[in-house]
Amino acid sequence: MTRTVYVNGEYLSETDAKISIFDRGFLFADGVYEVVSVLGGKLLDFAGHMKRLRRSLAELELPSPAEDDELLAIHRRLVSENGLDEGLIYMQVTRGAADRDFLFPPKGTRPSLVLFTQAVALRDKPSAETGLRIASVPDLRWGRRDIKTVQLLYPSMAKMDAKRRGADDAWLVEDGVVTEGSSNNAHIVTADGVLVTRDLSHSILHGITRAAVLRLAAEENIPVEERNFTLDEAKSAAEAFITSASSFVLPVVEIDLHPIGDGKPGPIAKRLRQIYIAESEKTAI
Ligand code: PMP
Repeated sequence: MTRTVYVNGEYLSETDAKISIFDRGFLFADGVYEVVSVLGGKLLDFAGHMKRLRRSLAELELPSPAEDDELLAIHRRLVSENGLDEGLIYMQVTRGAADRDFLFPPKGTRPSLVLFTQAVALRDKPSAETGLRIASVPDLRWGRRDIKTVQLLYPSMAKMDAKRRGADDAWLVEDGVVTEGSSNNAHIVTADGVLVTRDLSHSILHGITRAAVLRLAAEENIPVEERNFTLDEAKSAAEAFITSASSFVLPVVEIDLHPIGDGKPGPIAKRLRQIYIAESEKTAI
């Protein structure tokens, strides 16, 4: 089935959708994006994703392509036109099309706005039962990882390296400490049951799922510490897990071939996945 997608004000078949070859997203990776999950045809934490989008746009001085209520209407129309029950909506905003020049294009250049859906099973994932095997990879990304830009070459290379080494995903490591996963936030649970996760800074993306999971953990009386943790601390942790809009919460059972805890998904990661899904179903719009 061909999808209906959204490009610069138009709803089109994916086979007819076009973007200019002069688009700065294509030529310079000069753009930002968001990914919103859909469960039961409803959007998860839409407000959180919009807040982060606004911050990314502001940090790059990118003009806003549309107000939040318009973006919500586009998300909803794509869900309905594509009969999307479970999956993701990808939204990208770039600085638009202009002559290729290292200077920013003239004021008034219209930003490009593209959205499309992807049907994906989010609730039932084999890796929620088996857990993920992680390979550590040096974090060689730029210094503003808090901005959700479309320049994803290094995370793709990190993932490729992990796959080559027989792992499912990569955790990025800088000066001995874990920053985050290639496309997710990284968390561990200590032997005395404390959830430890990297604190917010320019070094990591401020995950919307991370924020929700930390809030739910506090409600469950799970102690939380937001601080650096080393790769060695992660390897000897009782549990490890990742969070992202597309994976929710997924347990990690191995890092660099070293089993985490007893090598099986841990109880806190499993519980947080359950309550995250239950809570999301309640609050989705
Ligand atoms: N860190 C990175 C590097 C990511 O790419 C992502 C997913 N886009 C995340 C963390 C998780 O963010 P979120 O929970 O908002 O999907």
